[in-house]
Amino acid sequence: MSRVYNFSAGPAVLPEEVLKEAAEEMLDYKGSGMSVMEMSHRSKVYDTIIKEAEQDLRDLMNIPDNYKVLFLQGGASQQFAMIPMNLMKNKKAGYIVTGQWAKKAYQEAGIYGEAIKLASSEDKTFSYIPDCSDLDIPEDVDYVYICENNTIYGTKYKELPNTKGHTLVADVSSCFLSEPVDVTKYGVIYGGVQKNIGPAGVVIVIIREDLITEDTLPGTPTMLKYKIHADNASLYNTPPAYGIYICGKVFKWLKKMGGLSAMKERNEEKAKILYDFLDQSKLFQGTVVPKDRSLMNVPFVTGNEELDAKFVKEATAAGFVNLKGHRTVGGMRASIYNAMPKEGVEKLVEFMKKFEEENA
Ligand SMILES: *Cc1c(COP(=O)(O)O)cnc(C)c1O
Repeated sequence: MSRVYNFSAGPAVLPEEVLKEAAEEMLDYKGSGMSVMEMSHRSKVYDTIIKEAEQDLRDLMNIPDNYKVLFLQGGASQQFAMIPMNLMKNKKAGYIVTGQWAKKAYQEAGIYGEAIKLASSEDKTFSYIPDCSDLDIPEDVDYVYICENNTIYGTKYKELPNTKGHTLVADVSSCFLSEPVDVTKYGVIYGGVQKNIGPAGVVIVIIREDLITEDTLPGTPTMLKYKIHADNASLYNTPPAYGIYICGKVFKWLKKMGGLSAMKERNEEKAKILYDFLDQSKLFQGTVVPKDRSLMNVPFVTGNEELDAKFVKEATAAGFVNLKGHRTVGGMRASIYNAMPKEGVEKLVEFMKKFEEENA
């Protein structure tokens, strides 16, 4: 068996320990005589799995009792519609557009009501986070929406926007559980798990209870109502059962690693190795304004497309895979999520140094 260093933006690297444990339990989960993917989601055994997963997530993020945790399907993209359908009481919401995912959410919201672009960084290819300390926010918006970590462009809010009292909704897909968060600052925190937590197919929604109401937009499908899932503890229909089981294992791994403060320290250390190298390199450059740099997704370029392609090709051959930048921006991107070991980043930097010397 040989494992590569996988820098994919998502689906992405998972802790090896978790994968091994899942492999050991594949045929017979804890004496049940069956795999978790073969068991009823209403069985006692599965009930323990999903309840423990929720409790471990609550412990990790310090989620207050007046927030529900929902394990849903449809990916992060389904939330682009579910959020306006459930939250747009005045049919008006503010969006801060800092990348393609935020833009897609903004465009989707426009189907259901008035989506107002409060700020954008599109003028400079989304390479920074706009100043959100004093935005012009209409009084009657139902919420202010952000994408907290921009997976494609490698930017991250270091400070949350001043929403002037409005509910904050955040897509945290690519920074989920990478550092501690103050849940009370948000109305909704959600993310697809395939970036930093588990296998694709699960989206986690953490939502303040007062935002869960019967009062959804007319025509909202039952499956897209937060209330139906909250009232049924994520078991209204068959949930993505196996995916939730793996997420639960990752939560336990994170607890064992020391929780989110320890993860933040580790992630800062890893990102620093790469950014420090980029800042002194004569060949490679980071593409993001330094103060807005993400700890999770690190885009960089050589400034020469042919050289970029050569780098990606040689890196792949050397066991550093999925370094090609998003198809819309080109260049390279190293995603260094929680499960990427420090050693992986160190070895990548060594490889980049060698490439730089050979191609000077
Ligand atoms: C990947 C990603 C999405 C889309 O996720 P899907 O689960 O494929 O719908 C949305 N937002 C962010 C920030 C992402 O990184």
